[in-house]
Amino acid sequence: MKRDYYDVLGIQRNADDNAVKKAYRQAALKYHPDRNPDDPDAEEKFKEATEAYEVLKDPELRSLYDRYGHEGVKAGVRGGGGGFGGFSSFDEALNIFMREFGGFGFEDLFRGGRGRRTARPRGADIKVRVKISLEDVMNGVKKTIRLPVLDTCPDCNGNGVREGGNASRCPACGGSGEIQQVQRSLFGQFVRVGPCANCGGEGQVIDDPCRTCQGEGRKKREMSFELDIPPGVATDDYLTLRGQGNVGRRGGPRGDLLAVIEVEPDPRFTRRGADLVHDLPVTFSQAALGTTVEVPTLTQPARVKVPPGVQTGHVIQLRGKGLPHLRRGGRGDLFVRVVVVTPSELSDEERELFEQLSTIESPAEVSQDGGGFWQKVKDALFD
Ligand SMILES: [Zn+2]
Ligand SMILES: [Zn+2]
Repeated sequence: MKRDYYDVLGIQRNADDNAVKKAYRQAALKYHPDRNPDDPDAEEKFKEATEAYEVLKDPELRSLYDRYGHEGVKAGVRGGGGGFGGFSSFDEALNIFMREFGGFGFEDLFRGGRGRRTARPRGADIKVRVKISLEDVMNGVKKTIRLPVLDTCPDCNGNGVREGGNASRCPACGGSGEIQQVQRSLFGQFVRVGPCANCGGEGQVIDDPCRTCQGEGRKKREMSFELDIPPGVATDDYLTLRGQGNVGRRGGPRGDLLAVIEVEPDPRFTRRGADLVHDLPVTFSQAALGTTVEVPTLTQPARVKVPPGVQTGHVIQLRGKGLPHLRRGGRGDLFVRVVVVTPSELSDEERELFEQLSTIESPAEVSQDGGGFWQKVKDALFD
């Protein structure tokens, strides 16, 4: 649910352009990632404020928003473009902020003029697949994983300079660490101030790089991570460990670690959301006479009654014996599906009995099979 743009910026609905810009500048500085390195909320707030600003500073989008709210802005056609749908990425929001305020120089904004801010790019995110069992899905699981991650170089503390060495001004950007580029976007043409590629935004180049890391300021190291996987997860769900990915070049902040869940198949069960299906093989005579058998669940085995005259596809529902729901509590069901198994090899005695039986049994009739297996599951659910 999107918040009201005026509320986001803390301004009145009749605020003029100046007030909008001022409010945005305040919010953006407050939530800027450089000031909130370990706060994922700040990143969201920064994006939110930037989005509000992009709409309210544009007379056409603002009037659409005033009349129709968020939906109006999304649908609005502007200069042949496709309206405005918010940002998918944080970088996009950061670029807009840079476009608006980059000219002031960050050192003034953040450091009271003391030294310049050097753009230290964030390290890359790491994606790792983590296998868990269906029992783990049932109970939740704590897992420790080990993997190589780029970590701060211990010999130069991440600055990339060899002990006793020097760094000098970057000739490509003259030490500013920034290069200006003209870019086109949905919002028109603007000058983007980006980090200098020659010095990686450092504003300086290293004359005598650290030997351990070749001046990168980081080095691969095997590290452990604790994962606390909640009950009810499914394959491709993932946990985000904020700020636990690769460290950035020369002391840049860490990226995230994404642990992508992979639930290993369990031959006993087929999963459908929080519900489980178990195939229960029964013999001809069990099917004809009925029986009580044990079926596996993810906790203790359960006893189920198979009624006499049962057909393949008959479903017995065990409520609450499925998997936990991820967020809303409670558990799914276990559906036991009867499969009548025709014997493929007969002993002499069995053959004799079947032959005897065949002389007296009544002819087979097709049972009233309505709509296949999932129909039966539905019927079981709603009867
Ligand atoms: Zn080093
Ligand atoms: Zn440079």
